[in-house]
Amino acid sequence: MPVDDVETIAKALTDAEVAVAFTGAGISTESGIPDFRGDEGIWTEHDPSDLHIERFRRDPGTFWRTWLMLHDSVAEDAPEPNAGHRVLAEWVEDGTLAAVVTQNGDGLHQDAGTPDDAVVELHGTFREGVCRACSAREPMDAIVDRVRDGQVPPTCRECGGTLKPGAVLFGQQLPTSELSRAQELARRSDAFLVVGSSLAVHPAAGLPVQAERAGAFLAIVNLEPTPVDGRADVVVHGRAGETLTAVADALQ
Ligand code: NAD
Repeated sequence: MPVDDVETIAKALTDAEVAVAFTGAGISTESGIPDFRGDEGIWTEHDPSDLHIERFRRDPGTFWRTWLMLHDSVAEDAPEPNAGHRVLAEWVEDGTLAAVVTQNGDGLHQDAGTPDDAVVELHGTFREGVCRACSAREPMDAIVDRVRDGQVPPTCRECGGTLKPGAVLFGQQLPTSELSRAQELARRSDAFLVVGSSLAVHPAAGLPVQAERAGAFLAIVNLEPTPVDGRADVVVHGRAGETLTAVADALQ
């Protein structure tokens, strides 16, 4: 990757009063979790409508059987944070970054040490299920065990209502408070760093554009081109872990 680009990103992070990272599924592929749209992404085997809220409403049992398959294909390898998650966690700790806004529900930013209150989970979490009736939450591992044992769809231990994954499904609104917080961070930021996102899913993908329009330096680190590359100050078509490690080295 071009040394100049790495140094330009490092300088922008140093100069910024408010720097924000915005991550997508691409930051977690190096931890063994497939993304949606990359070369080996989930959509090469599944259809996006499998994870649509209408499918869940129509037939929660079939929905949960698909979810179990996806869960098991990822959970088998017990994903751990990679260099990319760790660099962002260090930057939050030393004040380089104000927050990490993520589209991911895998919890790896928190596992790497970024405190809960510095992570904005725009699309909810895969680690919990939530009851449609009473909003009680349960760990996903316990829920998928019940699905595996034939409780399909799984039901809430508190009230017997149907459980849904804590992730925002296609066709669902984003949680209002997280979206407002992310938009506020985008508007306030002087440096906005996108890592591992195709920037294809709205409204989340509009955040880099909001940040750039509000005057932020915009950098995009992604293996493939994105529709927002033309607006960015720096675009690195490279791997997240390697690129963030190089920027961290340049900051020292
Ligand atoms: P996406 O699948 O649309 O795009 C991922 C992008 O990352 C691709 O353009 C790909 O080229 C790039 N990429 C893959 N590996 C990379 C690497 N090592 N370094 C740099 N770039 C890499 O993902 P998105 O934009 O986050 O799409 C949004 C949806 O995907 C979100 O709703 C999110 O919830 C969901 N999702 C999340 C996870 C997760 O939590 N880990 C996994 C799959 C999908």
